Amino acid sequence: MTRGQIANVDLVKQVNSSAVYRLIDSQGPISRVKIAELSNLAPASVTKITRTLLEHGLIREMEHQASTGGRRAISLTTVTKDFHLVSVKLGRGELNLSLYDLEGTPCGRETHPFPSQPQDALLAALCAHIADFIARRADKLNLIALSVIMPGLTDALRGQVIYHPSYPLAQVELAAILRKALGLPVFIGNDIRALALAEHYFGASRDCLDSVLVSVHHGVGAGIITEGRIFKSLGRDVAEIGHIRVDPLGDRCHCGNFGCLETMVADAALLRQAQKMLAQGYHSQLDPQRLTMAELCRCALAGDQLARNILERAAEHLGQALAIMVNLFNPQKVLLTGALCEAENIVFPLIGKAIEYQSLPSFHQGLPIVRAHFQDDQTIGGLALVKRALLEGELLQLIIEPKS
Ligand SMILES: [Zn+2]
Repeated sequence: MTRGQIANVDLVKQVNSSAVYRLIDSQGPISRVKIAELSNLAPASVTKITRTLLEHGLIREMEHQASTGGRRAISLTTVTKDFHLVSVKLGRGELNLSLYDLEGTPCGRETHPFPSQPQDALLAALCAHIADFIARRADKLNLIALSVIMPGLTDALRGQVIYHPSYPLAQVELAAILRKALGLPVFIGNDIRALALAEHYFGASRDCLDSVLVSVHHGVGAGIITEGRIFKSLGRDVAEIGHIRVDPLGDRCHCGNFGCLETMVADAALLRQAQKMLAQGYHSQLDPQRLTMAELCRCALAGDQLARNILERAAEHLGQALAIMVNLFNPQKVLLTGALCEAENIVFPLIGKAIEYQSLPSFHQGLPIVRAHFQDDQTIGGLALVKRALLEGELLQLIIEPKS
């Protein structure tokens, strides 16, 4: 056989194994007969693949009464509690580390200040933090992967950072560096895109295949899920909703343009607006000394007009940008995450109205706008990247046939 043919045989094995694993994960407990039927694989192949998955503890057998009565039937289900992964968020001046089992249960968390420094020192400090986090939990762990999520842009396919807003990591092959240092498969990705996938696997968009998630914090980002997958997340980042221009006469954005959505609705922008109005003597319950998003939402809900006006204007701008997403992607659900969700009763209906005025009726009719499930879990997106690598075969293959 030529090299190409060998690669193809491996690929076919990976595709078939992951198809079987995916079926057991999504439909289990499921019988081997049913797997063969749904996957179009020969029963002998299904038996062989499930034997391998059983040997590696990735699935287990369950005995139960067959629906036809009489004899006991055997079904298969995935094992998720016994496998662990470390998810790291390389944030803005902060490092969040979490340990999860594959079910999504957090089994340990830490946050460390992580100041910027020259690239070599930064990478050494990152490796040291992760190694230390793992070392202190090493007993009784079955670690299968590490994931690193971050704001900015990444090339997940190459494991490369394209741009990080806080650290000098441009063009760094981060996945390869960490894999070498820590001996684990490493998956990297943008934090918001990964969060959208986490919502699809474990959270508020589990029930649909097409959704859009918008996150409003320091910046404004989005993740698009189409047919159960992140739209274009492997090689090139997309959905930079924060840089849609909503006010041609708006403030200058860090991207160089003027009036980007981010300059109008990110947390700092809203607090700046409140500060400015208070300084000009606008009557309000808001205390300029203790101005936070939580306070802004609290006062708006308590009827404070200034707080309300600020959130309403933000909702209209967000809705304007979201309407574009709805027209382009026709999602089944829109998810929002961010501090302004605390005032969802004010914000969500206005976003809905703006979408309604600016998108196709058949696209927005009955479109739910909901709060994302994971509002405060900084690292959950990393769990989704590992789960994806398992379901799509890349990580599954590494567990079944570790490379020497
Ligand atoms: Zn911009």
